[in-house]
Amino acid sequence: MAKTAANAPCACHSGLKYKRCCGPLHRGKKPVDPLALMRSRYCAYAIGLYDYIIQTTDLTGPHWQYDQAAWNRELESFGAATQFRGLIICDYELDVEVAWVTFDAQLEQHGRAVRMIEKSLFRRVDDGWLYHSGTDPNEH
Ligand SMILES: [Zn+2]
Repeated sequence: MAKTAANAPCACHSGLKYKRCCGPLHRGKKPVDPLALMRSRYCAYAIGLYDYIIQTTDLTGPHWQYDQAAWNRELESFGAATQFRGLIICDYELDVEVAWVTFDAQLEQHGRAVRMIEKSLFRRVDDGWLYHSGTDPNEH
């Protein structure tokens, strides 16, 4: 159900084609590292793959919702109101069991530019990674 063609530029703004970037992850390939997971989640928001957002969210984290239908609708209304204009990775720290990715996402909502800066925490689970939570890096 991806709304991006295989040869189109990836919606995570990597400069790569979708099929060489987030496409394989959206079809079930494990991300090589948490940074790849972060990009693929941004991309999933941008192209409306909300199931992927849900599947890559840590169920021990604060964002997990048991009512997945309601969660999907919430993601859908955010996605419908948002254009995903750019993504800058500001910082990346990889530890054994956890990793942090600080990013600056340039969004547009109702014709207004919105910047979303977040320090995301990823947790290693089995042989992959999941998104756990995010904080505003300027609050620290
Ligand atoms: Zn990508």
